[in-house]
Amino acid sequence: MVTKHYVVTYAFLSFLALLGGIVPMAISGRIYLSVVIVVLLVAALMPALLIWLLRKMGYPIGRPVTCPRCAVEMPLFRKPRTMNQALWGGYRCANCGTDMDARGRQLEAGTPR
Ligand SMILES: [Zn+2]
Repeated sequence: MVTKHYVVTYAFLSFLALLGGIVPMAISGRIYLSVVIVVLLVAALMPALLIWLLRKMGYPIGRPVTCPRCAVEMPLFRKPRTMNQALWGGYRCANCGTDMDARGRQLEAGTPR
């Protein structure tokens, strides 16, 4: 199922792939058509592959995370409260204050996050 989360994640990864391919060429000042085509292909296909892989690993990439207690959907873009959250993801429900990890599982009270 394609959600807005999926589209945003896809676009973001695609953008990263484009940047990674185009910037070195722009800096060196040499643009090769064959390289541009490969970069475009990677930018088009890599996100789908990466999202699929991360989902296989259990990460809810491209899917909305909902609160385990009150089922409120977490915002697409979050502001990390701690270093741990910035690195590993995780949310605090704006509705009931429940802390959860990047997969939307409730954290035990007192878990250092
Ligand atoms: Zn909640």
